[in-house]
Amino acid sequence: MNSRIYLSPPHMSGNEHQYINEAFRTNWVAPLGPNVDEFEQQTAAAAGAKGAVALSSGTAAIHLALALLDISTGDKVFCSTLTFVASANPILYQGAEPVFIDSEPQTWNMSPQALQLAMEEAALKGRLPKAVIIVNLYGQSAKMDELAAICDRFGVPIIEDAAESFGSTYKGKPSGSFGKFGVFSFNGNKIITTSGGGMIVSNDLEALERARFLATQSRDQATHYQHSQLGYNYRMSNLLAGVGIAQLQVLELRVAARRKIFSRYKKELGHIPGLTFMPELPQTKTNRWLSTLTINEEVTRVSVKDILSSLSEQNIEARQVWKPLHLQPLFKDAAYYRHNQDEDIAEELFNTGICLPSGSNLSEDDQTRVITQIKDVLQGAAVKRGAL
Ligand SMILES: *Cc1c(COP(=O)(O)O)cnc(C)c1O
Repeated sequence: MNSRIYLSPPHMSGNEHQYINEAFRTNWVAPLGPNVDEFEQQTAAAAGAKGAVALSSGTAAIHLALALLDISTGDKVFCSTLTFVASANPILYQGAEPVFIDSEPQTWNMSPQALQLAMEEAALKGRLPKAVIIVNLYGQSAKMDELAAICDRFGVPIIEDAAESFGSTYKGKPSGSFGKFGVFSFNGNKIITTSGGGMIVSNDLEALERARFLATQSRDQATHYQHSQLGYNYRMSNLLAGVGIAQLQVLELRVAARRKIFSRYKKELGHIPGLTFMPELPQTKTNRWLSTLTINEEVTRVSVKDILSSLSEQNIEARQVWKPLHLQPLFKDAAYYRHNQDEDIAEELFNTGICLPSGSNLSEDDQTRVITQIKDVLQGAAVKRGAL
């Protein structure tokens, strides 16, 4: 059996040990410590933000962003529908109500026209959302200028879920710097990793101070343990922050490697009728966290499921794109605004999209295995129907 090819495995630089060893040497294993401070400063700089708070996960970062915006029971929060469930779960943690917004075809991210309609209707009812969570899917930045203009007009703050887009840029500005709060994830499958972890970034240093307070059980200033508010245990450990510092040093290399893998897939497969690779919006640079394409089954006569199962037979891990949240049983009661009356872009992408193995450590030989297998499946189908 061929060795397993993973979708997006961790890729260590080799320098991580140095920071972990130093933490061991000084016995700074407890949460917080010099690695955390350094990782926060460097991440803030990389994200073009004034400050950052290192947390146990990206989900925790989204949760704290909602808490900092005082979102609670009965409030509405708008959120991209085409995303991982972690983008929206914290809305439920706060007892608030998610409203999902469709994608548009150029970025696969939040549709400005769907957002506009959702805002107008909410304004008419006198119930504007208290935040909009905008996701940058697979590394591609959303149409930030258009989306921010709408949010500004209605006075609603943005939380930028940049969990997948660390290292990407939009009009020269770093991903994660466009909202009131930006969120990164350092989960094992992300472009850089601390095995598990996250970060909230912002220019509002007072709000970040409050994030630190909430993330350490909301402990009041007193000599004894005194608590007046609900808190969480959400901080990143000093050991893992050491891994993060070393990973951050190679972020640019990781972006370059993933972009190169995407280019190779596109060069070898992009000309095949019925296959369309995820676009890159002009004036943006995506980190190509995952190389993603859509399959037009009417043209290829091969379904997404056929391709996935044939890759799986070769011990290659590939996935469908995220199942839109408005289609998830968990969110069956949530309102949803599509791109336009006739088009549900997110659902279409879900039905036709595939994510290919994209790890920055994916060897050229393994890329060839993926490409060959996909060509074989498509060719097999073409032979069967007598096209070749
Ligand atoms: C990974 C991810 C998250 C959550 O990050 P964790 O660190 O796993 O909690 C949130 N949003 C998106 C879009 C993600 O891909």
